[in-house]
Amino acid sequence: MLEIRNLHARIAEDGTEIIKGLNLTVKAGEVAAIMGPNGSGKSTLSYILAGREDYEVTEGDILYNGESILELDPAERAAKGIFLAFQYPVEIPGVATMQFLKVAMNSQRKARGEDELTTPEFIRRVKEAAGELKINPDMLKRPLNVGFSGGEKKRAEILQMALLEPKLCILDETDSGLDIDALKIVADGVNALKRPDRATVVITHYQRLLDYIVPDSVHVLYQGQIIKSGDKSLALELEANGYADITGQAA
Ligand code: ADP
Ligand code: MG
Ligand code: MG
Repeated sequence: MLEIRNLHARIAEDGTEIIKGLNLTVKAGEVAAIMGPNGSGKSTLSYILAGREDYEVTEGDILYNGESILELDPAERAAKGIFLAFQYPVEIPGVATMQFLKVAMNSQRKARGEDELTTPEFIRRVKEAAGELKINPDMLKRPLNVGFSGGEKKRAEILQMALLEPKLCILDETDSGLDIDALKIVADGVNALKRPDRATVVITHYQRLLDYIVPDSVHVLYQGQIIKSGDKSLALELEANGYADITGQAA
C-alpha cells in the first residue's frame, strides 16, 4: 500500500537534508510502528507524507497503491484516502465538532465525486463511530478542540479518522505532552479501526505506546534512514536496551 523508495528530502528554506535515503514498505492490513530517538526525522517524514510545502523531495519516490503521490497536494492525498493526524490539533472556536465533521466528510466525498451525506445518514454514522470508540456524544456539541483535554483532542482525532474511512492512516505522536490515558485512546482507536484493507503507520518516540498497540512491524528511524526493521520483539528490545545498541551512539 505504501512504498517509500530511497527517499531524500530537505528543508525547502535552507536546503538541510533531513531524510537521507529512506526505504519503507507497509502492506494493507498492517500496523507499522516507526520509532527512533528525538531529532531522527520522524515528524519530518510525516509532514512529507502529508505533502507539506516546507520540505522538498530531491530523490526517490513515495508510492501509494503503486502510484507516486509526490505531485499531489495535501487535499488530493486526503481524497485518495491518506489520513494524517494533526500533531497539534487546531482549535476551531464557534464551530461545533459535529459541524466540523460534516464539512470534513462532505468535502472529502465531493473530492471523490460522491453525493453529500443527508443529515440523518451523517448523524447515524457519527453515532455509530462515537459508540465504537466510546466517545461521549456531549463532546460533539462543543467547538472542536476548544478547551478539550489532551485525551478529548485525541478522541476527536480518532473519531475524524473513523469517519473519513481512510485507507492509509499516519499518526505522529508528539514526544511530549501525551499522558498514558491519551496514549491508550490512540491505541484503542488504532486497534478498533484495523481492517484488512487499511494500513496504519504509528510514529512514536515511546515504546510504551506499543504496550497497547501490537504492531505487525517495527522500524527504527535514525539520522533520516530506517536502520532496522523487525516485528514487535524489536520494540521490546528497544524498551530493554534503548536505542544505543542499534545506533551505535548514546541516545
Ligand atoms: P523527530 O520527529 O524524529 O524528533 P524531526 O523530524 O522533528 O525529528 O526533526 C529532525 C531534524 O530536522 C531535527 O534536527 C530538526 O531540528 C530538523 N528540522 C526538521 N524540520 C525543520 C525545519 N522546518 N527547520 C529547521 N530544522 C528542522
Ligand atoms: Mg522530536
Ligand atoms: Mg517528532
